[in-house]
Amino acid sequence: MSVRPYRDITRRKSRQIRVGAVRVGGDAPISVQSMTNTLTTDAAATIRQVQALEDAGADIVRVSCPDADSTAALGEIVRAVQVPIVADIHFHYKRAIEAAEAGAACLRINPGNIGSRERVREVVRAAKDHGCSMRIGVNAGSLERDLLEKYGEPCPEAMVESALNHARILEDEDFFEFKISCKASDVFLAVAAYQGLAEACDYPLHVGITEAGGLRGGTVKSSIGLGGLLWAGIGDTLRVSLSADPVEEVKVGFDILRSLGLRHRGVNVISCPSCARQQFDVIATVELLEQRLAHITTPMTLSVIGCVVNGPGEARETDIGFTGGGNGTHQVYINGLPDHRLKDRDVVDHLVEMVERKAAEIEAAEIEAAEIEATGIEAAGTKDDAGRLDVSTRPAAAAS
Ligand code: SF4
Repeated sequence: MSVRPYRDITRRKSRQIRVGAVRVGGDAPISVQSMTNTLTTDAAATIRQVQALEDAGADIVRVSCPDADSTAALGEIVRAVQVPIVADIHFHYKRAIEAAEAGAACLRINPGNIGSRERVREVVRAAKDHGCSMRIGVNAGSLERDLLEKYGEPCPEAMVESALNHARILEDEDFFEFKISCKASDVFLAVAAYQGLAEACDYPLHVGITEAGGLRGGTVKSSIGLGGLLWAGIGDTLRVSLSADPVEEVKVGFDILRSLGLRHRGVNVISCPSCARQQFDVIATVELLEQRLAHITTPMTLSVIGCVVNGPGEARETDIGFTGGGNGTHQVYINGLPDHRLKDRDVVDHLVEMVERKAAEIEAAEIEAAEIEATGIEAAGTKDDAGRLDVSTRPAAAAS
């Protein structure tokens, strides 16, 4: 049991698949996805957008392939970027085959929608030949007619049945490298469908609230839906769907994971809303800090609190703390302890410099620890002529 059991999340046990080099499911970190909204045929624009998503931390990026010109452009896109690309295919099995040949790491396709068994077989063969995984994507808005007739309306049971029907088609072809999503724009429906699916199978789940809305509304809706699922241990990869710049989807995805302690990236700024007691302009300072610290990827915490009411307490829990003090003299904390005072001037510059230095320190310590571990493993494997383990070659830190 951990030191703070109230923060523990027990993840659902799912099987693991690969999307290119990214592991999805099992004990793999929950990956963050987004999707381009450029014309795929405009390879240059799509590459630029994928690279912006990579810079924001996206693990996987999906690209629509509605026609043969799009799959023709896919190869150039795949070659120019680092992240694995998921080709979004809807009905045309030929697009799926072309996408697999072009280097897509995953095909988002519902096998029940592409026609005859022979076509499914061809797509599966292409996926196997090119090392592609697949995603079955059930959406409440496009459920099969027979399920709508059976259940009367889109409901969790219909969505789960649809997902399992598609899954069975792939299983019958001896293909198991797939994940499933069960999205709806209604939070209740999506969450109930995912809960049902999580119980019904052990495939990795791609979680998302579809068509969630604009930046603010969609973020709130996704945070409620995905937050509840992830807190319950459901979800192996996620996408936040926003009518906004896709880079925002990635940022919100990481913020959700960070709020639940499931994954950390960049500076987690803890700041107060400010009030009449504030000793400096908290809102303007935080806004500037967030902009100027966006390039930091090392996980760390920074508290920026307007006064001593909550400042020292928050600072105790953070890597770097800043608390407003009287007469324009503020307190700076490092690793939870008071370190030095700072006058009003250059607060943002000073904190940015401190965070950058701290991030470099953390990274250097991680590299050193990894090197010690690697040396330790190597040394621990050194045997004498009799085949006995020669512990004298182990470095002290690794042996302790
Ligand atoms: S920490 Fe101080 S300034 Fe910030 S909201 Fe609380 S009382 Fe107001």
